[in-house]
Amino acid sequence: MSIAEPILLTPGPLTTSARTRQAMLVDWGSWDDRFNQLTASLCQQLLAIVDGADTHHCVPLQGSGTFAVEAAIGTLVPRDGKVLVLINGAYGKRLAKICEVLGRDFSTFETAEDQPTTAADVEGLLKADNAITHVALIHCETSTGILNPLPEIAQVVARHGKRLIIDAMSSFGALPIDAREIPFDALIAASGKCLEGVPGMGFVFARKDALAQAAGNAHSLAMDLYDQHAYMAKTGQWRFTPPTHVVAALHEALLQYTEEGGLPARHARYADNCQTLLDGMGALGLRSFLPQAIQAPIIVTFHAPQDPRYQFKDFYERVKAKGFILYPGKLTQVETFRVGCIGHVDRRGMQAAVTAIAQVLQEMEVLDI
Ligand SMILES: *Cc1c(COP(=O)(O)O)cnc(C)c1O
Repeated sequence: MSIAEPILLTPGPLTTSARTRQAMLVDWGSWDDRFNQLTASLCQQLLAIVDGADTHHCVPLQGSGTFAVEAAIGTLVPRDGKVLVLINGAYGKRLAKICEVLGRDFSTFETAEDQPTTAADVEGLLKADNAITHVALIHCETSTGILNPLPEIAQVVARHGKRLIIDAMSSFGALPIDAREIPFDALIAASGKCLEGVPGMGFVFARKDALAQAAGNAHSLAMDLYDQHAYMAKTGQWRFTPPTHVVAALHEALLQYTEEGGLPARHARYADNCQTLLDGMGALGLRSFLPQAIQAPIIVTFHAPQDPRYQFKDFYERVKAKGFILYPGKLTQVETFRVGCIGHVDRRGMQAAVTAIAQVLQEMEVLDI
């Protein structure tokens, strides 16, 4: 894998391959048959990743990932529904905020940022409140990198006859999710994360019967996934201007995904990136925030050095000058920074990043780590 500078060690946008970027050098008309075929092929390939072709529709949507999350909640939760939102970080809080803004009734259950939500928690919460119709969960909470136990939670939700909405934005494509084994009404992801496309579109795998019943739920014309799907099924075209270059880049990124070996290979590379990072940073004395057992191989949160000579902004700029973009921490209680393991980068890239970080700490005379 060639190293193109700068390397974005962030959870999206992230480093893409030259081949993916090259796919954006062509202009497509939205009426062009070939473009519509590109969209259809994209949706088919995406559905195959979750083995969802029989049970789910793939509904793509223009915008960043949050647009697709908001569209999924607005479309699939009826106006008189109630959402139980499971929170252990910033993206979980965003789910609750979306329910609030859309005027959907909701309750929240929050655990500490290093504490996964458990199936037993969800069991108790569903027993205690019959009004809940939907449960919303973040699979990998990107604000720390923590992995929530999706299969176990999905089983509890299904056993109670409730519906599950999964924000799998930062895990889809790298961590296995099989729609034949994990019941869900909606699973949401986007172009610019583990599939290594460029940002600009999200997509929702919506259970076919749930989507069929969702006419008129949406609060918004542009965010109505029912309408988006109905129009696309009828015409083969996107409703409203499609992000043509983003679609072309994602299509090309998916070809490379398959060539690499699909999900198992993508997962193996990211797991290797993550381990390389943890080992290298550990040797510098930098401690990760999460215990290994609940750390997803997506992004790692590190405790900031204690030394008063450490300032994130200065650290960030110096590491950037060496070709690597880091990510600030997102925790309220502890001073941290984050390093992504995803994108078109392999172990050598991670080793080079650790070397750059070691040099920068030395330059800054940060001794107390
Ligand atoms: C990236 C991400 C999103 C979407 O964020 P956008 O900035 O709207 O792209 C949502 N949920 C999770 C868990 C994410 O990692």
